[in-house]
Amino acid sequence: MKIIVCMKQVPDTNEVKIDPVKGTLIREGVPSIINPDDKNALEEALRIKEKFEDVNVTVLSMGPPQAENALREALAMGADEAIILSDRQFGGSDTWGTSLIIASAINKIGNYDIVLCGRQAIDGDTAQVGPEIAEHLGLPQITYVSELQIKGNEIVAKRAMEDGYYVIKTKMPVVLTAIKELNEPRYPSIKGIYNAFKERVITLWNINDIEIDKNRIGLKGSPTNVKKSFTPELKFKGEIITGTVEEASRKLAVKIKEKQVG
Ligand SMILES: Cc1cc2nc3c(=O)[nH]c(=O)nc-3n(C[C@H](O)[C@H](O)[C@H](O)COP(=O)(O)OP(=O)(O)OC[C@H]3O[C@@H](n4cnc5c(N)ncnc54)[C@H](O)[C@@H]3O)c2cc1C
Repeated sequence: MKIIVCMKQVPDTNEVKIDPVKGTLIREGVPSIINPDDKNALEEALRIKEKFEDVNVTVLSMGPPQAENALREALAMGADEAIILSDRQFGGSDTWGTSLIIASAINKIGNYDIVLCGRQAIDGDTAQVGPEIAEHLGLPQITYVSELQIKGNEIVAKRAMEDGYYVIKTKMPVVLTAIKELNEPRYPSIKGIYNAFKERVITLWNINDIEIDKNRIGLKGSPTNVKKSFTPELKFKGEIITGTVEEASRKLAVKIKEKQVG
């Protein structure tokens, strides 16, 4: 069985900086991590690998060269292979362009059974890339997966809803998007870290390594355009009430009365 895990390297902060002219993310100088949902996706792939025989887990990331660090961490956790998709011509792609590039790489890898994505990246936050990959590949998709079982060539997944669950069954190959309830990602072992950072090789693919229409990617080829990005102004300021518990409680009670709450 072949499992491909799509993994995005994201800034380790909620304070995403935005280029005021281009309206795109500025990654330079911001410490980066594996997108949290993608760690759950990888963990699930590794659990499947431990449960069944002959399972290969390949991690795939599109991004600048520094995204290699996220892939090395994935190798340290137990992934078998890692591929980075990096090319200046990929830059500026919107989610449709990004998913098209990733889907082209998945096509090139071939013979896959499961494509596992995170539900959502903590920087872009759209939750579009997973479903769009499924669309490009013409595959069934189950999003918001919180439980997973493999029965023969079928997947049975519990899909979390706001007020309950769906249990969905489909044949492989399939695209799944993971949420944090799916599992608790493991820590890499010391040996795993040593091997991943000292010995393992990461495959680099650029635009010439995949079959793709260059007019459909990058800033120019992307169907959506960021018109304006801004941080909303704070409408209300918080106030810290000081003093002993009794004093603070009294002050708080006065303020609540003033505001006529309660
Ligand atoms: C007009 C426009 C221009 C943009 N220009 C730029 C730019 O110049 N530079 C820039 O950095 N960003 C740019 N972006 C943002 C970029 O499109 C998104 O970061 C990217 O498409 C992923 O979207 P998301 O973060 O919402 O991911 P989501 O859809 O929330 O991610 C869901 C899942 O998809 C997978 N996934 C997402 N992205 C990747 C990836 N890169 N590699 C592997 N797996 C992935 C992961 O499993 C992830 O958990 C631009 C966006 C727009 C709309």
